[in-house]
Amino acid sequence: MSRIAYVNGRYQDMRDASVSIEDRGYQFADGVYEVCEVRGGRLVDMPRHLTRLQRSLGELRIALPMPLSSLAVILHEVVRRNRVRFGIVYLQISRGVARRDHGFPVKAVKPGVVVTARTIDPARGEDNATRGIKVITVPENRWPRVDIKSTALLPNVLAKQAAREAGAYEAWYVDRDGFVTEGSSSNAWIVTREGRVVTRPDSSGILSGITRGVLIEALEALQIRFEERPFTPAEAADAAEAFVTAASMIVMPVVAIDGRAIGNGTPGPVARRLREQFHRFSAFS
Ligand code: PLP
Repeated sequence: MSRIAYVNGRYQDMRDASVSIEDRGYQFADGVYEVCEVRGGRLVDMPRHLTRLQRSLGELRIALPMPLSSLAVILHEVVRRNRVRFGIVYLQISRGVARRDHGFPVKAVKPGVVVTARTIDPARGEDNATRGIKVITVPENRWPRVDIKSTALLPNVLAKQAAREAGAYEAWYVDRDGFVTEGSSSNAWIVTREGRVVTRPDSSGILSGITRGVLIEALEALQIRFEERPFTPAEAADAAEAFVTAASMIVMPVVAIDGRAIGNGTPGPVARRLREQFHRFSAFS
């Protein structure tokens, strides 16, 4: 089956879909994106993703190309046309097409909108979660506005590649003070030996993950002790458990950091429980 993308007003076979070479998303990574999980054909926590999208656009002074309700319709339609039951839907908005010049286009242009969706075999995620993933640490080298979900991801690309080349699945950035900020495409968490779940506050140095936000609510409901504070790689290596969160991974146990086993080197009970329980706390549409 050929894949269908929504590109600037049209649903098209992906093989025929294209955007201008003067799209500022292509020229400058001048755009933002969102990724929603698709589960049982429904979108997970989509309203929250769209709210964050609107914030990212606002921070970059890119106009919202259409009401959020219309974007929601397109997201559902792309999922439907691609018959995705388990996977992800991806939405990207660029500032639009204009002659290449770093400053914003003088005459307002229409933002570029692209939506794609793809199936991901749920067994693959479950397999990873059963084994647990390894992470490495890399120096934080991103710009300070990582709160904006920008398509400018070169440091993230390099960090993920470094992880792969080290036989790991994810890279955790470490800031100049020696604290973990987040993963290249996920938020980072540990569970202390006292059973406290710890993650860095979203006020600095991280993207405010939607999965992170829902999980914090889940922790409260499940009466699991929770602390928002930075932690170091040494504390993570010494912790009972660690895990990462992202829409594409939900809760993914971490079993090693820089080659050192965390806990007994297998996925811990808290991460496993949170992975099982997560969707009780998320909103489906
Ligand atoms: N941090 C970064 C850098 C990310 O790229 C992502 C997701 O792609 C996340 C955190 C997790 O965010 P969310 O839970 O909204 O997927």
